[in-house]
Amino acid sequence: MKTALTIAGSDSGGGAGIQADLKSFAANGVYGMSVITAITAQNTVEVRSVQDIDLPIVKDQISAVLDDIQVDAVKIGMLSSEGTVEVVAKELIHYQPRNIVLDPVMISKGGHHLLREQAMEALILKMLPLATLITPNIPEAEVITNRSIKTKEDMKAACIEIHALGPAAVLLKGGHLEGEPEDLLYDGNDFYWIAGKRIHTKNTHGTGCTLSSAIAANLAKDMPLLEAVKEAKKYILIAIENSLELGNGHGPTHHFY
Ligand code: PLP
Repeated sequence: MKTALTIAGSDSGGGAGIQADLKSFAANGVYGMSVITAITAQNTVEVRSVQDIDLPIVKDQISAVLDDIQVDAVKIGMLSSEGTVEVVAKELIHYQPRNIVLDPVMISKGGHHLLREQAMEALILKMLPLATLITPNIPEAEVITNRSIKTKEDMKAACIEIHALGPAAVLLKGGHLEGEPEDLLYDGNDFYWIAGKRIHTKNTHGTGCTLSSAIAANLAKDMPLLEAVKEAKKYILIAIENSLELGNGHGPTHHFY
């Protein structure tokens, strides 16, 4: 069986982070493993508090898995601190896993910082160059490029700029722009627009985590990048359509339907 490893934060509410990643891996047919970088006390309404995991145990979780088990893809989510970014980057350089999908998690929908501002530079300098694919949404791409993104032309320019920072490919998710959502995949040579469908629901908690994990699972199964992204997009659409009315905030996407 193909395998995937998530390196990310725990969401006690089960909708995002490690919990969403493992459900997405399972639903997409790969064996899931996890390295926990931080624990969030969280529900569908808010992130109440965050505890970073000590760096030596972050390092040991990565080496324990990679010393023993074949890892076909790695998905990276919440990294929280500069130290965590550095440890994870160092271990990935050492082990050289073949597919690394980087979801540059920065701020939760409720506005809680999941990456400290001081860690941004380390994320850009140390983590981006290691990624097979980075999957920013528009606000994350605006932070990375330090420019505003309002049109499809702006999206293209942002992809070129982010690609120049080192990742092999960029998937810029267009859902924050008005109109029917379109994502843009750029592999350094070609642009591919991937049309989506706007689903009117407040239950979108964990969509970014779920999508990047589905892409990682598809890459683990040796799908070519464009197909891996398109199939994962189909999956997240259905997961949002079936999202659950749990709690009073942003309910979670549903992985098994
Ligand atoms: N909590 C954790 C631990 C996450 O990794 C993420 C990922 O983006 C989020 C929360 C974000 O949740 P939301 O989709 O509600 O912004």
